[in-house]
Order: sequence, then structure tokens, then C-alpha cells
Amino acid sequence: MARNLIADVDLSAIRHNYCLARAQAAHAHAVAIIKADAYGHGAVRVARALETEADAFGVAAIEEALELREGGITRPILLLEGFFEAEELELICQHQLWTAMHSLEQLALLERFLQQRTDVSGLHVWLKIDSGMHRLGVHPDDVQSALERLQALTAVESVVAMSHFACADEPQRPDTLRQLQQIDRSLSGMNIARSLCNSAGVMHWPQAHHQWLRPGIMLYGASPFAEPQPVAAQLKPGMTLSTEIIAIREVPAGDAVGYGASWIAEVPTRIATLAVGYADGYSRHAPSGTPVWLNGRRAALAGRVSMDMATVDLSLHPEARVGDRVELWGANIPVNEVADYCGTIPYTLLSGLTRRVKRRYT
Ligand code: PLP
Repeated sequence: MARNLIADVDLSAIRHNYCLARAQAAHAHAVAIIKADAYGHGAVRVARALETEADAFGVAAIEEALELREGGITRPILLLEGFFEAEELELICQHQLWTAMHSLEQLALLERFLQQRTDVSGLHVWLKIDSGMHRLGVHPDDVQSALERLQALTAVESVVAMSHFACADEPQRPDTLRQLQQIDRSLSGMNIARSLCNSAGVMHWPQAHHQWLRPGIMLYGASPFAEPQPVAAQLKPGMTLSTEIIAIREVPAGDAVGYGASWIAEVPTRIATLAVGYADGYSRHAPSGTPVWLNGRRAALAGRVSMDMATVDLSLHPEARVGDRVELWGANIPVNEVADYCGTIPYTLLSGLTRRVKRRYT
């Protein structure tokens, strides 16, 4: 029998979440961020499901963009990290990709490329400003001259100024307001479209919405915030990860379960073994006590997650049998909650699912 670990992806939930993102800003467009295989949900399938709604798609690497084009996606695709060599500029032209540009080196490369390729037209460039995160982006002092150089290129049809927030998911911190002030200073006197907001920006920072949103994690029904949040409450889970019980045993009081003998039965306890482990992307950091959903109510992990298996305390589930399905996260166990137990964020859980997990789409 095949291993029965399945990620059920709910494409209508993802559509709902995209529309919810867009509804936060009446006049803005939105790039649906589907890098990292749409955070583990399957980029081509998600893009197809959003193709009539999404204004554009965002990916990190050119290979991801090419996979979408090969999958028949014709909407604009934005390369969030831009390009690194002339060959990539060729592909950008050939596949009509939009590109970010985050350094003066990239700008010089583009200028040199266009001196050779005078036939090129219709380029869409998003100039990334380092407004305080200090990861990617043109220095604020160089923004105006870079924009002028871009606007002087006849092959460039449109330019958007973009920046990325470091702390938009922590509303009480002053960092986002500081970044906004820096962006205002960098663009003062320039009439140019802006794109600043990731999901946390979309959900919490209306003053930053401007012309283009860039929601990612919220499309998949997970919240970027640690605390409850009103928009997050309206998201629908994009994925339910479930598996089945492959064995059940009675463990005597005082005996331990799993590697490291880290969980010890206080009383005689039925233990279920599940077909899921860290080689599937279910975190080894999920401790004993992490909730799962079994037969309409919660149960909890007991013992360490191993490569292919995890174990669950069946004390409250005398009815459980081999073959019963167990939800690891999704409709009943929020992925945010599992991430909290693991000391991580939902991004790592979702994007960390491996090829062993079957994706099934509804
Ligand atoms: N914009 C950029 C440039 C990003 O790198 C990302 C993701 O890291 C996003 C938008 C989407 O962020 P989130 O998933 O937090 O909405």
C-alpha cells in the first residue's frame, strides 16, 4: 500500500485569500507571491487557479518564472531578485518577464545590454530601495539618479519603486514608520508607482498600500502575525496536511517512546505511529504535546519526530484504529499553531514540505 501522506490544496481558499488581500486596498493591484513553489503548494497549479484574478505573480528565481511560462502561465511575472547576468536579461525579454533591480551594478548591466540590443522594448522594471532592511536595494542617496537613468532608457516602458519591510509583522515597533519616512524622502518630488507591502503590510499598514501589494503567506491562509489579527481571522487555510495511523501499540507505564526516550508513559498508554516525519517536511522540532486532529478532536504528539514517523498519545482516543486519518495542520489545526510549537514560522513549514508529500488539488 502506498504511503498515505497527502497535502490537500484548496485552490478556492487561495483565491479567496488573494481577493481578501486585494480588498484591503480598493485601488491597488497585487502581485501574488508564488516563489518557493507557491510556499509548497505547487506554483503552476496555484498560478493557474489565480490566473483570472491575479494582476501579476512574484517569484525569486528565473527558473521559477520559466517553470510558470512552461506551465502555460501568461500573466506578468515579476523576478523579485532581478537578474545577475546578460543571459538572464535575454530570457527576461524572450519571456516578457518583469524584473526587480536592486543594485547599481544591475542598472549598469541593463544599460550595457540595451546598447547592444536596440530592438528591445516594453521592459517593466521595479527599482528596489534599501529603506532600512539592509538586505537588497539601492542606497537611498542613489535612488533619484537611478530612477532618472531608468526613465531615460526607451526600452523601459514602466518603472515601479519597491521596498521591503523588516518588521511589518510587529505592529508596535517603530521600524516600519521609519522605513516609510525613508521611502518618502528617497522619492520626494517624483511621481512614481510604489510597491511596499508584504502580507503584514497589506493586513496592518494601510498608509503603505500605494499602487502594488505583494501578498505571500496570507494567500496560503497563514498569518504573518504572532497575535490574533482581524484580517487573519478571515483567511482560509490553503492546505490541509494529513496522514494515517500505520500502527498502534500499548506502552506500559514507565516505558519511553521514540528516539532519545524523551517521552515516558505515566500510565499504560496506547500510542499511534503516523506515516509522517522530518524527511517529509514535518518539523523535527515539533515537541511532545504538538496537536494533531484525529476523529473530530485533538490528540498530541508523544515522543520525537523521526525521519519517516511520528507518534501520538491515544489516551483520549480509545476508538482510534490503524488506517484512521490524522490531520497535521490545516482546516482544524492552524499551521500557525504548529509553527509556534516548533519555535518557527508557518513559512518554513509550508515551504519545507518535500517531494514525498503527494499534493492533491480541489
Ligand atoms: N515581497 C518580497 C520582496 C518578498 O521577498 C516576499 C517574501 O519574502 C514577499 C513580498 C511576500 O512576503 P509575505 O509572504 O510575508 O507576504
